[in-house]
Amino acid sequence: METRRRFPPPSCTSPSPASTLRSLPAAPRSSGDRIQASDALPIPIRHTNLLFSLLFVCSIVFLMRRWRDKVRESIPLHAVDLSELVSIISVVASLIYLISFFGIAIVQSIVSSHEDEVDDFLPDSKMTPSPAPSSDLAMPVLAGREDEDIIAAVVAGKTPSYALESAIGDCHRAAEIRREAIRRISGRGLDGLPLEGFDYGSILGQCCEMPVGYVQLPVGIAGPLILDGREHYLPMATTEGCLVASTNRGCKAIAESGGAASVVLRDAMTRAPVVRFLTAARAAELKFFLEEPTNFDNLSVIFNRSSRFARLQDIQCALVGRNLYMRFCCTTGDAMGMNMVSKGVQNVLDYIQNDFPDMDVISLSGNFCSDKKSSAVNWILGRGKSVVCEAVIKEEVVKKVLKTSVSALVEVNTIKNLAGSAIAGALGGFNAHASNIVSAIFIATGQDPAQNVESSHCITMMEAVNDGKDLHISVTMPSIEVGTVGGGTQLASQSACLDLLGVKGACMESPGANARLLATIVAGSVLAGELSLMSALAAGQLVKSHMKYNRSCKDTSKAASN
Ligand code: ADP
Repeated sequence: METRRRFPPPSCTSPSPASTLRSLPAAPRSSGDRIQASDALPIPIRHTNLLFSLLFVCSIVFLMRRWRDKVRESIPLHAVDLSELVSIISVVASLIYLISFFGIAIVQSIVSSHEDEVDDFLPDSKMTPSPAPSSDLAMPVLAGREDEDIIAAVVAGKTPSYALESAIGDCHRAAEIRREAIRRISGRGLDGLPLEGFDYGSILGQCCEMPVGYVQLPVGIAGPLILDGREHYLPMATTEGCLVASTNRGCKAIAESGGAASVVLRDAMTRAPVVRFLTAARAAELKFFLEEPTNFDNLSVIFNRSSRFARLQDIQCALVGRNLYMRFCCTTGDAMGMNMVSKGVQNVLDYIQNDFPDMDVISLSGNFCSDKKSSAVNWILGRGKSVVCEAVIKEEVVKKVLKTSVSALVEVNTIKNLAGSAIAGALGGFNAHASNIVSAIFIATGQDPAQNVESSHCITMMEAVNDGKDLHISVTMPSIEVGTVGGGTQLASQSACLDLLGVKGACMESPGANARLLATIVAGSVLAGELSLMSALAAGQLVKSHMKYNRSCKDTSKAASN
């Protein structure tokens, strides 16, 4: 298969990949391509390759024949005439060209595949331009200067705040100086915001720019959650009172009923670039091209080169006039996968640009993905891990632990979570408080909290089973977006919480197993949270209706007696 060139990663100061792509001309050779020496040639590279190869072969053949004749005629080999001299020069020149071309290509391919892995291990290096790459720390030009001088330079605007890490070469000192500069500039202190006790080097170039401290969040532990026969203690970072206690109560009810069970229905992170053509007919051509199984197989090969863990599964297309939205779905191992899928998509766009030179890439993300926004596409087709989790809660447990009844729970669930959400026009919000549990676990385990939007999509079902005695409860969550490597997961506190759950880092035996297990734990915790809050509501509802109807009965009887 022909090797196509890739867009270079954006430099620290370059615009975002989306804006870079936006400015691409609709030409087969994208302006974003890495500039190579061959770009300066007046004729296409394949022609020069052919030319030098022919030159090499012809010269060698000529020289061989010539030397064979010389040997036969006993003429000394070192007595070269002009034609031989020209041939020798041609052989040397073409050899130099061919070695340079193919040798460099081989070295480049080795280096670029290494770069890919290096990039992979620097999570956001491609997608988020970093103002202070760690390599710059090797040239700390302000390291020897007094703090006071540097603070004054920052306050005066002579030294940019974002450059402190690279200019000083000490991340902690940079944060301290920035903090003091901010205090002087704003006239306000940051007394309650701790500075000490955090490894600022661990976030450099990947988690947070221009740090001045860190926010403290309490982490509570609920559980054990008995899920699929295993015990899990759930770390929840929250400032909402009762949340951990309530989830804990749900876990207890689940445990006393024999535990919950979960199934991962689907595992696919998505990214949907949008491209535009001159006509809708042409956009449709690309759609049909992508839907052709052989083309899909070729594109999978291109896509999967982006990482050892990225595996393309599907491309879902949607057309809006002459714009084509291509929703690439792929497995991403134990990574949440946004960077991975974006890189794969970029490779595929580069590739198909050659067959569709009139394709204008509008944006690497066309919102049909759909990331960090409430959308029907995620709710219906899923994004990340699609999980269903269920449990049968025994009648006596509903009474003893949850202080309510099966019939009350089923009734409240139908009227609140199903009918109530329907009348509210909910999109994936057919639950009591899934996002409470999702957010708390996301923050504790270093997930992207903004993905709580779609990760909290959940429909909670409750039915009476076993002759109406017991409660069958399930949560169906089609788009839980979690990872156990990359992003904030490697930071010390978050990593400790993942460790508590037994899903820290990459799963060596089966890549992706840790992330899938984490997704099921999130769903199981949501199940516990739903059970507990719904019980509180059901019990409260019963108390209220008791009060109301008892009073009204009293009133009626009073009225009757009066
Ligand atoms: P994301 O795509 O979620 O933003 P990153 O860009 O941080 O994640 O990619 C995760 C990194 O972890 C990649 O460099 C990948 O090569 C590496 N990695 C190591 N082991 C695994 C694994 N089991 N699954 C996925 N990625 C892994």
